Amino acid sequence: MLLYTKTMFSRTHSVSTTGQTLHITDVEITASGGLPKFVIIGLASKTVSESRERITTVLTQAGIRLPHKRVVINLAPAELKKSGSTLEFAIAVGLLKLLGVALEENNKTIYLGELSLDGSLKKIANASKLILFAQTQGYTNFVIPQENYVELSQIQGVTLHPLESVANYMQHCRSQTPLPTFTPSDQKNQKNSPSFTTVKGQAIAKRALSIAVAGKHHLLMIGPPGNGKTMLAQAAKELLPPTAPFRAPHQSCSQTTLIGTERSSQPGELSLAHSGILFLDELPEFSKKNLVALRQPMEATILSLTASKPAPCDFTLLAAMNPCQCGFKNSTKKTCTCTRHQLNLYSKKIDGPLKDRFSLQVYVPALSPEELQNTHQNFSEATLDQLKKDVARTSAQLTQHKKTAPTSQLFLPLSDAASKLLYKANSKLYLSARRYHNCKKVAQTIALLDGKKSILADHIAEALQFRIQ
Ligand SMILES: [Zn+2]
Repeated sequence: MLLYTKTMFSRTHSVSTTGQTLHITDVEITASGGLPKFVIIGLASKTVSESRERITTVLTQAGIRLPHKRVVINLAPAELKKSGSTLEFAIAVGLLKLLGVALEENNKTIYLGELSLDGSLKKIANASKLILFAQTQGYTNFVIPQENYVELSQIQGVTLHPLESVANYMQHCRSQTPLPTFTPSDQKNQKNSPSFTTVKGQAIAKRALSIAVAGKHHLLMIGPPGNGKTMLAQAAKELLPPTAPFRAPHQSCSQTTLIGTERSSQPGELSLAHSGILFLDELPEFSKKNLVALRQPMEATILSLTASKPAPCDFTLLAAMNPCQCGFKNSTKKTCTCTRHQLNLYSKKIDGPLKDRFSLQVYVPALSPEELQNTHQNFSEATLDQLKKDVARTSAQLTQHKKTAPTSQLFLPLSDAASKLLYKANSKLYLSARRYHNCKKVAQTIALLDGKKSILADHIAEALQFRIQ
């Protein structure tokens, strides 16, 4: 029998469903004087007694004596009656915490699993849906039933702790050894995924991608097919922290898949890409409806599907497209075969307001045979390492600044020369208010990447370059 200390409160996190809606559920447990009783608040009534029975049986079998007190388990938010025996493992761990016998955990840990009477953790249905949802809410560690592991090992950016049973968990508590840990970022996959060190040439596109990721600026890459736009976008993933998501929904996806709806329990791709990259390849092939719906979230960090259901969506959009239907407009390699009508139709697919929201636009040209041969144009590992550090530092500085200052306010001062250049450019190019403002922000990211304390004329000049008419 284990001894326990008198901790009177514990909190553990899980995910549950109410109808079709998912929510993070806090399992809050208190033990107080009064008649010994075991109360669960916030669970759909018919499952309460069954769950209570299973939890007490399993813990007793594991040699745990529940406190001889009034134990109240509050599943917050309590007003939503949850179905879902998936909470049972979280409740069991919560009780162990209350008794002072649980393992130390990261506060971004979620426990999922239904208990069998013999103490094993039963496989849960829709596990990936629950985990992807929790990931959008900032949770990264998941203690899950062993049987769900294979299915969940496909999810990027999470740490999984698969367990067979409560007894299994208790063994780790007793020996004070950490839980088994699997990070599904699969070494083999990482080796084969594109990198700035292996994608040939395209120095300007690589620079644009670095600025995009560092400053969370949206980037549009335009160029003939087969020049590595997709590989470049995938390579940008290496500039993100390892846990940041990279989502690449297909052009044929529905608006529900891309944005999410108030009725759907599944978050949209925009939310799944929160604090990471959303990559839309062949942008004009997305439905008109989806392209219009993208505009607002591109400038927001919270997606308001309804007032009651805001979802985070602070993503960096990387998009790629061909310059025309046939793909070879302005190409020096091949002649464009599009008719004027086709050119018109194609250019209308990405309208002004959408294009304007891409602070960075870059042409990704075909490489010459010499360029394809020349490996000196690739990044060295050392250059890539330095770039990763610069991007991480810049991103942290901007995040810190955002916490305290209004979004319109710059973090770095504009030098006189930079102001003059911007004024001149504006009177010549008639920048939209949005583009004018974004240009300053891009220049600021460039200055931070270069480790400067103010925005110089060079930074403005470079920012102005990333624009395609
Ligand atoms: Zn064409």
